[in-house]
Amino acid sequence: MRELDKEKWNLHNSYINLPGIFYTKQPPTAVRSPKLVIFNHALAASLGVPEQLGVFAGNELPGGSQPIAQAYAGHQFGYFTMLGDGRAVLLGEQITDSGERFDIQLKGSGPTPYSRGGDGRAALGPMLREYIISEAMYALGIPTTRSLAVVTTGETVRREKNLTGAVLTRIAKSHIRVGTFEYAAQFGAANDVRSLADYTITRHFPTIAAFENKYLLLLKEVVKRQASLISNWQLVGFIHGVMNTDNMAISGETIDYGPCAFMDVYRPATVFSSIDIHGRYAYENQPKMAAWNLARFAETLLPLLDGDENQAVGLAQEEVSTFWSLYHHDWLAGMRAKLGLHTEEDEDSLLINDFLQLMEQCQADYTETFKALTLDRNDGLNLFSHPAYHQWHERWQERLGRQPQSRSESRALMKRHNPAMIPRNHLVEEALDAAQEEDFTKMHTLLLALESPYSYTAEQEEFSQLPPPASCGYQTFCGT
Ligand code: AMP
Ligand code: MG
Repeated sequence: MRELDKEKWNLHNSYINLPGIFYTKQPPTAVRSPKLVIFNHALAASLGVPEQLGVFAGNELPGGSQPIAQAYAGHQFGYFTMLGDGRAVLLGEQITDSGERFDIQLKGSGPTPYSRGGDGRAALGPMLREYIISEAMYALGIPTTRSLAVVTTGETVRREKNLTGAVLTRIAKSHIRVGTFEYAAQFGAANDVRSLADYTITRHFPTIAAFENKYLLLLKEVVKRQASLISNWQLVGFIHGVMNTDNMAISGETIDYGPCAFMDVYRPATVFSSIDIHGRYAYENQPKMAAWNLARFAETLLPLLDGDENQAVGLAQEEVSTFWSLYHHDWLAGMRAKLGLHTEEDEDSLLINDFLQLMEQCQADYTETFKALTLDRNDGLNLFSHPAYHQWHERWQERLGRQPQSRSESRALMKRHNPAMIPRNHLVEEALDAAQEEDFTKMHTLLLALESPYSYTAEQEEFSQLPPPASCGYQTFCGT
């Protein structure tokens, strides 16, 4: 494979300093006839990487690349399995001018030793879907991996039918997962979890490195980041869909956009994923599942927490249990902001929960409802003609009146927390359908509008149409 000039790439690979069990050297497999479908110029500029089709197709290696596939395991729907990058290759870590380090990973780049019989490839639809939703999450201010490029391969991938093959370039603070720790604990040598933990601390939590109880602090930080992340998801109505432990990043970024989707009508039991038969990863279960995953993470750290196993278990349990208070704190703060509340009152939880209940009862659209409150537009939704809404509205107005901030300050706060736009399922599907036919205009228009979800522009208003009732039973697929 030809190496390109070192011009702009500033690639390193610190991951290969970990013990050998954590990865396999693996170049991407070249594709027949690559074509760039979308390229994220702004992200490329911030990373300082050039637009090189050959690299994003896996046909050429950027200078300095030492490509690897990472090993990891994971609990999938509750069951432990050996996994690993079965269709992804890490080209390296780009160090930006400001000194930040980002993984550059190709997804759909061919088989690896972890492919477990899979073809190592990906289809265009799911890769564009990941591009759109991850970039929308970024614009919403939610920690996430990002998408740099999607390339079609000129090859067909066989699923239930023949699909257009594609490769996504994913950017992440790292690809260390809860499942990476589980892999080390289950299959590694005595010191492998420690090596991984030390590496993780250096990479993501350098300020705790000098502390004697740094492993407990690592757990604390990871719990904190997940509590914040999941509260962010809940606040915008994002449903990840497959919160297996291999899909939980230690960095606190949202990762692995498979069957994810945003909730339209507020219904806590909403599940979109076709494979989530029992609703394990339903909207309302996401905090519980995050806590469950964190417990799996904590278990891997036990030998590092204390020489005495009982002591270690006690410490781990205590730390994991803080998830709930952290989560509720973040969620409540976010909900107060959504309702324009600058101050805190004990009764706020009641005010918020009564409103959510009313939304559920009226089958109100989650995003549109908060948007209507923000714009003081009490029409267009069933909810607003419900007698209980008028009572609630009065309570809310009284509550707003008890804080020193003006109504316009409240409105400004609400605008910063209630997106005017989310990547609605029917819009995403429309854009993807057109893209299949090589018409990318819808996708670009959608992406542009999603770039500034809190700016309440006229274009966004056009995207605010509620989905047709037929899409209520919307289903998502993993896209594997
Ligand atoms: P995911 O559901 O995307 O989190 O993937 C779970 C596991 O299956 C990961 O180890 C993936 O690398 C692997 N995988 C998914 N799709 C493929 C594929 N087409 N070929 C090989 N491995 C795959
Ligand atoms: Mg995954």
